[in-house]
Amino acid sequence: MPFRKKVIAANWKMNKTTAEAAQFVSDFKIELGDETHADVVLVPAFVALKTVSDLLTGTGIKLGAQNIFWEKSGAFTGEISAEMLREVFVRYVVIGHSERRQYFGETNATVNKRVKAALAAHFRPILCIGETLAEREAGKVEEIVVSQFREGLAGISEAEIPDEIIIAYEPVWAIGTGKTATPAQAQEVHALIRRTAAGVFGEKFAEKLRIQYGGSVKGANSRELMGQPDIDGALVGGASLDPREFALIVKNSV
Ligand code: PEP
Repeated sequence: MPFRKKVIAANWKMNKTTAEAAQFVSDFKIELGDETHADVVLVPAFVALKTVSDLLTGTGIKLGAQNIFWEKSGAFTGEISAEMLREVFVRYVVIGHSERRQYFGETNATVNKRVKAALAAHFRPILCIGETLAEREAGKVEEIVVSQFREGLAGISEAEIPDEIIIAYEPVWAIGTGKTATPAQAQEVHALIRRTAAGVFGEKFAEKLRIQYGGSVKGANSRELMGQPDIDGALVGGASLDPREFALIVKNSV
């Protein structure tokens, strides 16, 4: 099995003002110390990107954005372009988060356009997929996860697919609810995603593909989750707001 460097991302959602984000970065640098075995990504609100970017200069910590639009510029109120993100040295972009799908009408088709825009701009998309509780109870986990994967990456050929893509498996029922998928439940779906990736894009791509787990990850459960063979990191919401807790999650990913 090839080595896959863990990738741990802090999705702050609509939390932290610029001043609060700056405070986090200075505290987090101390908490993290010289830990370098994982890729660590901070994903603040758009207005805090520039400040966080400046504060991350010279550290190994990377910057992510919470979305990207597929047009270059124009009359698209509320959206953000690749060029705007590049200007502040964004490297990763979270796409298709369940909150975007649930509250803002994102579909697999719009998610697909955003993924392509991110790839065209040489960002690393973090494509979020995962089933709701009703879908899980109806026995539809495989159907939902596979279709979100296939449709989110539709139109990208085996020859074109870059290793930069990251998948975040985030069961919707576990996001912000305190309910975590058990390590076995999460591993089962991660293995399914890797098999699906192998079927669509080939074994070589699938072996390198990094698949994060997201859904109430915290210091106390992170080691066991990321100890599973197909779990290559975490996308963390609530627990990433606290610098000590988030640093603990990073340290637990060894
Ligand atoms: C998320 O927003 O991606 C997430 C997983 O949130 P939480 O960790 O709060 O469940």
